[in-house]
This record gives sequence, C-alpha cells and structure tokens, in this order.
Amino acid sequence: MNVVIVGGGFAGVKAALELSKRHIGRITLISDEDYFLHHATLYATATGKSMAESVIPLKQIFENHPNVTVVHDKATSIDPTRRIIKGAKKQYHYDKVIMALGSVTTYFGIKGMAEHCYGIKSLEDIKKFQNHIHEAVVQNKLDKDYVIIGAGPTGVELAGALCQYLHSTIKLHRLNHSNTRVTLVEAAPRILPRMSPTASRIVGRRLKKMGIRVLTNHKVEALDDDYILVEGKKIDTKTAIWTSGVANNPFFSKHPDIFDLAPNGRVNVDEYLQAAKNIYVIGDNNTVKYSGTAWPAMAQASFVAKHFSRIVTKRQPKPFRPRSYMSGVPVGEGWGYVEWLGVYAAGKFGAWVRRQMELAGYRQFVSRKKAKELWRAHNIPEIDA
Ligand SMILES: Cc1cc2nc3c(=O)[nH]c(=O)nc-3n(C[C@H](O)[C@H](O)[C@H](O)COP(=O)(O)OP(=O)(O)OC[C@H]3O[C@@H](n4cnc5c(N)ncnc54)[C@H](O)[C@@H]3O)c2cc1C
Repeated sequence: MNVVIVGGGFAGVKAALELSKRHIGRITLISDEDYFLHHATLYATATGKSMAESVIPLKQIFENHPNVTVVHDKATSIDPTRRIIKGAKKQYHYDKVIMALGSVTTYFGIKGMAEHCYGIKSLEDIKKFQNHIHEAVVQNKLDKDYVIIGAGPTGVELAGALCQYLHSTIKLHRLNHSNTRVTLVEAAPRILPRMSPTASRIVGRRLKKMGIRVLTNHKVEALDDDYILVEGKKIDTKTAIWTSGVANNPFFSKHPDIFDLAPNGRVNVDEYLQAAKNIYVIGDNNTVKYSGTAWPAMAQASFVAKHFSRIVTKRQPKPFRPRSYMSGVPVGEGWGYVEWLGVYAAGKFGAWVRRQMELAGYRQFVSRKKAKELWRAHNIPEIDA
C-alpha cells in the first residue's frame, strides 16, 4: 500500500510513525517545513527559552524509520480520480492519503492586524518577535504596554511568560522601565472561555497577582504601528501579539467537489475519519469532537494507522471514538493550572503536571532519552535580550 501523508505536524508525524511501526506499505510524508513544530512550548521559546524544545528536525524524528520518506514540498492540490497529490515540486501517487495540514491564522478582518501584529504560531513569528524585543532592549525603548490579544491557553501562557521575561530583562540590563506591563485583551466575558469557570477564576487571580492587566468583554477594533484600538480607546504600544483566531487550512476550500465543509470551514469526515474515498482528514482540519488540540490530533493519527492495519489484514474496521484530554496552562515559571473531567490542580503541582504532559508529548515522537533531552531544554535560555 502506498500511503502519502500531507503535513509534518502532530497528526501527520504521529500517523507516519504509527504506520511505520506496523510496517504498513511505503510511507511518504510531505511537509512544507523540514522540522516539526512543538506548539505547546512556543510561548517559552518566544520569551527567551530554548529553540530546541520547540523545533525538532523531521530528519531526526525519522532517522530510525527507513520505510518513511520525508519530502520537503508544499501540496497544492489533489486529484482523487488519478489518486495524485500535486506538490510545488512534483506529484505523488497514493493508494491512501492522510491530510493533516493544520490551521492558519485569521484576523477576522480587523484593520491593521495583518500588517502590524506579532504572533507565536510559526518559527518565523517567533524569530520576528524575538528580534523586536531585542531591538527594544538594545535601544532602551520598551513599550509601556505589551498587548496580547486573546485569552485562550496560548494568550494566557504567553502573558505569564512575557511578564516574567520583561521584568528579568529590565533588571538584568538595568533599564528604566519599571512601569512596563502586559495587557491581555479578550472579547469573551471570561478568560480561558473554553475551559471551566473555575479555570478562569483561579488563573485570573494568578494573572492579577503577577501584575498582568486583564480586559475581558473588550474587542480589539484596529491596530496601527504605535497604538491599538480597544473598545474605542487607544492603548499606546508597538507590540500587539495575536493569539486569537485560527481558520482551517485553505487547501480544503479549493476543492469543494471533494471535501464537505462545515460552516466553520473544517472538513466533515465519516466514523473512520475518511472525507472521501481513500482520503482521510485528521487533526485540526476535521470537525470531529475535541479536534483543535494536539492530543486529539495524535489519537486520530494512531486510529488511522490501526484502521489501515485492519484493512490490510482484512479485519472488521472499528469506528473512531473521540475522547477528551487533560488541558493545562502554565502561568509563569513554577505555576500551572490543569483540569480534566471536573478535577483540577493549580500552583506548583499544576505546573508539574503540565510539564509531565509535555514530556509525554515528546515521547509520542522520539526515544525516551531524546524526549528527556528536549524536555530539559526548557531550562536552557536561548537568547539574552
Ligand atoms: C501557539 C500554540 C500553542 C498551542 N499549545 C497547545 C497545547 O499546549 N496543547 C495542545 O494540546 N495543543 C496546543 N496547540 C494546538 C495544537 O498545536 C494543534 O491542535 C496541533 O498542532 C494540531 O495538529 P495538526 O497535525 O492538525 O496540525 P499542525 O501541527 O499545525 O501540523 C500541520 C503541518 O502541515 C504543514 N503544512 C501545512 N500546509 C501544507 C501543505 N500545503 N503542504 C505540506 N505541508 C503543509 C505545516 O507546516 C505543519 O507542519 C497550540 C497551538 C498553537 C498555535
């Protein structure tokens, strides 16, 4: 069986590893980046922690998987009749294809956002943000307000890390910016709107204690080079960081004849995660319950590998059963909040559990030894602003 996987993120890489472990056919992994991006630690890498914990070369992940061919290419279209994925460099024939392209940033049409804001979703985003902070420190021109847009887990963890990073940088370089602060803006009535009200309350208290200004029920209206407009009021800043909106990868809307899209743009799939004959869509791209975070993406990848194995060995296929996973958010060094099925932990223990989740995440991709190495890289500072 010729299996082509498109996308070298959580779902695509996990699918390739699981198929390889089961010795299923020839596996080709196509990705437009030659590294795997570990999103869960990007907030830390953006604020002075190691690049190594967030960027893992695909070559390294697949070094002991000779049956996986990793191709650096960008898929541009699919021809289901000829069973071909067209890439920018060449075409790839498949018997079965797994699409795992992840999501893309959307600014909901807010004026000036695309031109002026920073982000932490890609490696380019991180480098741009790091350079910006570095320049501000060198010129001793820090902003009074560092504005983070979106108080989901990414915005909250970035707020905590950025607050501590700015304060330690100010102290280290003896900068005269004691009034610098982080402002977190959220349109919903509470922070962490997809987590429990308990999470919002406890994490809200922690943010307040750290001196982070939280504006809930506040919509961002526009962004310019040196200010952001929030609910009609200008906040002077040269640093607004967008963590708010994502949309489905535009690849799917280019093929309305093949993919059935839900109103939110994600792909509807059947109980085997199949969108059309021999085309499987997994991870952030589909409408399956709980899709949108890393663990469900990896669970779907494992499922598809098992499903292919059942097909090859002519066993009865079993449907995919989605399940929820623990969610956790670190808020500054040594403090975290985690919750699962109505049970939560906060503070030092919460931070410890969240760190264990990260270690378990690395173990999905690399050996125990390598996972520990990546995990420990968190404690090694990358840049000295
Ligand atoms: C900043 C941030 C922090 C996050 N933190 C957490 C967290 O703490 N816990 C958690 O569970 N989830 C977290 N998430 C969500 C999680 O990262 C996603 O749910 C997960 O990455 C989904 O996996 P995926 O494989 O569907 O997509 P991705 O991991 O995004 O992978 C998509 C891959 O496809 C590649 N690609 C895209 N288009 C093409 C193309 N046309 N051709 C070839 N390759 C292509 C991309 O380069 C990428 O490698 C976070 C997300 C972000 C952005």
